[in-house]
Amino acid sequence: MHLNIIRENGQLKLENLHCGCAYDHDMPDMKIFIYSGLLGDCANLVKQNMTGSNVLVVCDEITHEVAAKQIIDNLQSQGYNCTLCMFAGEPVEPSPEREAQVAAMIESDTDFLLSVGSGVVTDVTRHAAFMAEKPFAVFGTAASMDGYTSITSSMMENGMKITKYGKSADILMFDPTVLATAPPIMQAAGIGDVLAKYNVLVDWKLGSIVSDETFCPLCEELLLAALDLCSSNVDEIIARSEKGMEALIESLILAGLTVLIVRYTRPVASVEHNMSHYWEMSALAYGGSSPSHGVGVGIGLIYSLIFHDILRSANMADIDKEKIKASRMTKAQKKEFIMTYYPPGVGKEVLQVNHFWYLTWEQQQARIDALIAYHERYKQDCAILPSYQSIIDMFEKMDAPTSAKKAGIDKDRLRKTLLCTKDFRPRYSIANAIDELGLLGYATQKVLDMEDSL
Ligand SMILES: [Zn+2]
Ligand SMILES: [Zn+2]
Repeated sequence: MHLNIIRENGQLKLENLHCGCAYDHDMPDMKIFIYSGLLGDCANLVKQNMTGSNVLVVCDEITHEVAAKQIIDNLQSQGYNCTLCMFAGEPVEPSPEREAQVAAMIESDTDFLLSVGSGVVTDVTRHAAFMAEKPFAVFGTAASMDGYTSITSSMMENGMKITKYGKSADILMFDPTVLATAPPIMQAAGIGDVLAKYNVLVDWKLGSIVSDETFCPLCEELLLAALDLCSSNVDEIIARSEKGMEALIESLILAGLTVLIVRYTRPVASVEHNMSHYWEMSALAYGGSSPSHGVGVGIGLIYSLIFHDILRSANMADIDKEKIKASRMTKAQKKEFIMTYYPPGVGKEVLQVNHFWYLTWEQQQARIDALIAYHERYKQDCAILPSYQSIIDMFEKMDAPTSAKKAGIDKDRLRKTLLCTKDFRPRYSIANAIDELGLLGYATQKVLDMEDSL
């Protein structure tokens, strides 16, 4: 039986989550509504799906104007007691101060929270609701990332971005006409976050062959549905039509649901995400700029696709294991590399989290052999990958940066990014593959040489 994606009266549902893989699959108990005109209906959907009449509405100044104001009016006319928690100023960060602002407004008789916004507003509300043990609903205002379905929040703490455990929303609501009012850079971010899943799928398959990762065919099916929906509507998305906005948010939601199904972020994030996180962490630690999550992921995708081109065209007969062995770092050198290439505090965490941060020669050799044996099939798996140029063309049409340089990241930071982000997590990626074949130095130099023309 095949996975069924059902769209019924503006509601998105999944059926037949059967799969033979080693993960337990959870079907999230979450209602998802996407349709034009939903903004005016939001109060009705809340009434049908949430219990109680005391609601704390969380938004920022912009999302107050585009949606929250109207939602509060409608809720009040239906007899709800609404309290407004509005974040002032721009840009809004997911800081402890923001969360404290929300927490201070949660009363014992608050029945639920309603976030009206995109990434930061949703993340902060999610965590505050989790801590206060209150249910929460989401009205999303931008199709900019796949985290609406998430159970975790990306929060700032002591100058570092960390993932905090929370819970999923009871209902998610999106109105394509509202999504279309978000600036084009947010849609570019959404496209970046969806199309990154092409890279994730190929990397995950590589990981299943070379590093014994569990691959989930059900997640693959969902991701391919999301990718197809997004890719076949790119022009509509760029034009910000209702059809385009509906396709983009639905593809982000389908992709995001994989994380709930396997309770692990492997289906949505590979090394392109590590690159985006690295730029964010470096900007926090050393200053300078970093692109938003999805835009950074899109740029990371461009570099990952260049890396795949290198592995695809590599001749496995030329792989010289003795040469690779001779050029290996010692364990002490590798530790020093991770501690100095990552911002303060992060290197130590990488060593703790990634049990593959140092491979013995025997381990590396086994992986090289597996990769060589898989190479022909790998080239076939790469058939789904878009060209890096097609991502650049898309981003250019949306005025989004198409390289680290254009996003304000200098060449030295980019060089470090390309060399060290493979180590960020234990999950395998194209960067690990070319590194273990002794090709990462060459690949990094090739990207740096191309950088000015990207
Ligand atoms: Zn993402
Ligand atoms: Zn599965």
